[in-house]
Amino acid sequence: MYSLEEVRKDFPILSREIYGRPLVYLDNAATTQKPREVVEAIEREYYSVNANVHRGVHFLSQQATELHEQARRRVARFIGARSEREIIFTRGTTESLNLVAFSFGEACMSEGDEVILTTMEHHSNIVPWQMLHDRRGIVIRVAPIDERGVLDLEALERLFTGRTRLVAVTHVSNVLGTVNPVEAITTMAHAHGIPVLVDGAQSVPHFPIDVEAIGCDFLTFSGHKVYGPTGIGVLYGREEWLDRLPPYQGGGEMISHVSFERTTYEQLPYKFEAGTPDYVGSAALAQALDYVDDLGRDCIRAHERDLTRYAMERLGAIPGLHLYGEAEDKDAVVAFNVEGIHHLDLGTLLDRLGIAVRTGHHCAQPLMERFGVEGMVRASFALYNTRAEVDALAEGIERVRRMF
Ligand code: PLP
Repeated sequence: MYSLEEVRKDFPILSREIYGRPLVYLDNAATTQKPREVVEAIEREYYSVNANVHRGVHFLSQQATELHEQARRRVARFIGARSEREIIFTRGTTESLNLVAFSFGEACMSEGDEVILTTMEHHSNIVPWQMLHDRRGIVIRVAPIDERGVLDLEALERLFTGRTRLVAVTHVSNVLGTVNPVEAITTMAHAHGIPVLVDGAQSVPHFPIDVEAIGCDFLTFSGHKVYGPTGIGVLYGREEWLDRLPPYQGGGEMISHVSFERTTYEQLPYKFEAGTPDYVGSAALAQALDYVDDLGRDCIRAHERDLTRYAMERLGAIPGLHLYGEAEDKDAVVAFNVEGIHHLDLGTLLDRLGIAVRTGHHCAQPLMERFGVEGMVRASFALYNTRAEVDALAEGIERVRRMF
C-alpha cells in the first residue's frame, strides 16, 4: 500500500483551505485533482515540444507526433486493447458515446431497431440514443434495478428481441457505485449475437480494466476522471467494429484523399479523429496513467473500497440519513439524503465547512425518478482521500442536522 501522506503531497490543491478550513475534496466522480507530474507534462509539452502533429516534416512536429502516438499505445496497454488502432482519442466519455451512437446508428440501426440501456445510466448514455430515436426511429429499452441498486440481469435478458442491435451499459454507476457484471452481460449479449458498449467513466479510474477479459466491443472513458487533463477522452472499439463504422466528423487528419467529387478516409484510428487532436492532453493523460500504475491499481481499489465501506458505516449510523446503493460489489461512491434537509442545503452547508460534495440529480434523472427523489448528496472517493476526511464528512452532516 502506498503512503497517503506522501501521495497527498503530489496534489498541491489538497493543501488548500476553503473558508479557513482544510479542503475535504469528495467530488472525485465529477473530476479528480491532478498530480504535479500531469501538470508538468502539460507545461513541458507547451514549453519545449509544441507543434501540430502528423503534418510536419520538421523535428518538433515529429517529436509531438511521437508523444501523441506513444500516449495512444499507453492507453491501449492500460485497458488491455490488442492494438493502438483500437484507441480513438475524443474529448471525453460524452463525445465517445456520441460517436458510437452516431456511427453505429448510421451503419447498423434503422427504424424499429433497439438499444438496451439500464436505469442507472448517466445522461451521456441516454440522450445520444434519444437523438438517434428522433433521427431514425430507433427504440430504447431499459433494464431495471432493484432497491439496493443492483441490475436485474434476468430482466435484462428478457429485453433481447429480434430487433436488438446493441447493449450500452455503465460499468459503475456514478450515483450508486454499483459495479455491473459487464463480463456476464457481454457473454449474454454475445450469445444473442449482439455487441456491448461499456461506459467506463467511473470504472477506469478505480480498478484494473482489461477489455479483452471483459470481451466488450466498445469502452469509453474520460481523462479528467483518471487524474488527467480535461478535454481528452478515449473510445476503445474492436477493430472489426471500427472498420465497419463510418466516420463521426469530417475534416483534416481523417482523410486519405479529398477531391470535390469524392473523399477516401484514413485508416484506423485516424478515420475517427477529424481536426487537430489534443496532443498535449494525450501526453498528459499518458503521464496520469503512469502515475496510477506506479501506485498500483489493485492498491488504489483496496484503499477506495475500504473508504467506501467505512463511509457507509459512519454515515449509515446517522439518524435520518438514507443511503442509496447498497450493492455488494460497490465502488467509490456514497449517495444519501437526510430527512428534513434539502440536498442542496446540505451540500451548501457542508461546503461552508470546507467539504466539497456533489448535490442534485448527478446527470441521472431517470435514476432519481426510480428512487422517488429529486436529488441526492454524493461523496465520491479517489486514491488520495483519507478516513479522517470521511470522519469530517460524518461530523459535518451531524452538525448540519443540529441546525435543522
Ligand atoms: N458516464 C458516467 C458514468 C459518468 O459518471 C460521466 C461523468 O460524470 C459521464 C459519462 C460523462 O463524462 P464526461 O462529462 O467526462 O464526458
